[in-house]
Amino acid sequence: MSARSYFDWNATAPLRAEAKRAAEDALARTGNPSSVHAEGRAARAIVERAREQVAALVAARPTDVFFTSSGTEANMLALTPFIETADDKQPRSRLLISAIEHASVRAGGRFARDAVEELPVDAEGRLDLAALGVAVAKTPRPLVSLMLANNETGVLEPVAEAAAIVHEAGGLLHVDAVQAAGRIACDIAALGADLLTLSAHKIGGLKGVGALVRRSDNIHIAEPLIRGGGQERGFRAGTENVTGIAAFGAAAAAARGARATEAGRMLALRTSLEAGLRAISPQVLIFGASAERLPNTTLFATHGMKAETAVIAFDLEGIAVSSGAACSSGKVQPSHVLAAMGFSPSLARGAVRVSLGWSTAESDVERFLNAWRKLATALSKEQRGVAA
Ligand code: PLP
Repeated sequence: MSARSYFDWNATAPLRAEAKRAAEDALARTGNPSSVHAEGRAARAIVERAREQVAALVAARPTDVFFTSSGTEANMLALTPFIETADDKQPRSRLLISAIEHASVRAGGRFARDAVEELPVDAEGRLDLAALGVAVAKTPRPLVSLMLANNETGVLEPVAEAAAIVHEAGGLLHVDAVQAAGRIACDIAALGADLLTLSAHKIGGLKGVGALVRRSDNIHIAEPLIRGGGQERGFRAGTENVTGIAAFGAAAAAARGARATEAGRMLALRTSLEAGLRAISPQVLIFGASAERLPNTTLFATHGMKAETAVIAFDLEGIAVSSGAACSSGKVQPSHVLAAMGFSPSLARGAVRVSLGWSTAESDVERFLNAWRKLATALSKEQRGVAA
């Protein structure tokens, strides 16, 4: 058994061997992709090959992929009033988002604060489609942003149904697929997404690389976030991160090739992990358990548990888990996702996220359950002590 068991894949995944090799090959080269000499052309070839690989992951055309510095930047690039289509060049009036979006979407991109509206979700964390219908009907040319899978619960959002509602009302849909890509099928046209965000480090690439993908060249972002040398066809200036992009492409190709096998393995392991959790602590609550979820994510809590204490206890046992989203770790506020699902702050404060990946083994699940048994026993002794 390895020294540690890593269960925080939704925060970041380990670098895939294929991505590491691609990064090393790229590092050994000199050219700037914009240069016309042989070195420049070689660097350009690396970037364009990666563009094809990333496009294939979401069944898009390579010319519709724009590399950015992160998923966060891709979200920021997408969330602007200045998205034009061939037949509508007027600015988008408002941004409608679900109440469970990642912080990089909740920040509202380049919309004014008062032009951003949050829509409710149900107790499983799925967008209320009726509320979406009402909101788009009273909003001229809305831009809607909806995640495909939630980073805390793993719950899948009804993206295709939302797309039909949004398009019917003359709106556009941006989909944050950062957690879903590589784990479930992610076909940009089938989802009905006009724009879609990806992040390299969640699929086994390097941190600090992302992409915004558009459904077709009918969609144009008239106001780039970074202006300058016109790279990425004017969508995102700055010399390309050739190493990061090369690794992203290789990770995308590997994730696409192995998705079905990896998803099946992860689901089997997650199922035994959840069965074990429930057997040890019948009162445990698994959030979003009756909704369709990513195959790799479990968010659970039990009354009286504090997430910070649990994360430290697991860490001491050689296990890395997270208290809700990594981005909000260190803050004591309970998760906005669980609040939107209607859970009390005291229960939400105890939520621990366990996320698996392609190298998670049965022995890791066993180690996790042994650690949980100890923790749950200590917790119930503590509670009995309080009650006495
Ligand atoms: N969107 C979601 C759903 C995420 O989970 C994350 C990262 O945790 C991001 C966006 C941001 O991606 P990045 O870390 O590349 O900025």
